[in-house]
Amino acid sequence: MSSSPLYKRVLLKASGEALMGDQGFGIDVAVADRIAADIADARKMGVEVGVVVGGGNIFRGVAVASKGGDRVTGDHMGMLSTVINSLALATSLRKLDIDTVVLSAIAMPEICESFSQRAAVYHLSLGRVVIFAGGTGNPYFTTDSAAALRAAEIGAQALFKGTQVDGIYSADPKKVPDATRFDRLTHKEVLDRGLAVMDVAAVALARENAIPIVVFSIHERGGFPAILTGGGRATIVTD
Ligand code: UDP
Repeated sequence: MSSSPLYKRVLLKASGEALMGDQGFGIDVAVADRIAADIADARKMGVEVGVVVGGGNIFRGVAVASKGGDRVTGDHMGMLSTVINSLALATSLRKLDIDTVVLSAIAMPEICESFSQRAAVYHLSLGRVVIFAGGTGNPYFTTDSAAALRAAEIGAQALFKGTQVDGIYSADPKKVPDATRFDRLTHKEVLDRGLAVMDVAAVALARENAIPIVVFSIHERGGFPAILTGGGRATIVTD
């Protein structure tokens, strides 16, 4: 890790499913520890890291709506799931002595601090990892959109989207073995081709704010820090 990083401040989006590992539900602590180790390496390079964690390993709002329940309540349950995941990742980071703050979009002062843009920038500038919990705080949104929103708010130079595979493909490579992998794309191409890497609102927000999206495999230990210094494998989405 001798080369200097290409980025000063980034936002990392990890889905809830990434934390689940091979389990069908919940959090695999070994996986959370591995993701935390990558974030710790990024911190040791001096990169300021904000993190948005999803909640799909615990609960998604559509699950309630699809069974006739109230979507808004379901989304509240989904947002609470992201808080559980954020606390788990913070625990893994603190085990590595990485100073970490959880800022929630939904106030729960007994559990963590509340989100404000100023607090986020303050903690980041002191070298703390900031985990943004609770998504955007609004139903009908996703944590992908929360990631693009927080990236814009903290002035991140890139939005890192950790996925199951090493970049963006023309189709799901786990289902379509001869799917084409892209090294580079524009935000417009991602939107026009309907490439399912992040939801449309997230890509549109990143595009409007000229934030590059770096899509990489969250499952490769060392992948995230390698990309920060110009190595590794990723698809880069720019203007
Ligand atoms: N959610 C929400 N508003 C947000 C972010 C998330 O209502 O701003 C809810 C929504 O129900 C969603 C769930 O939280 O399904 C978990 O988030 P997401 O599906 O984005 O998690 P991921 O797929 O990244 O694990």
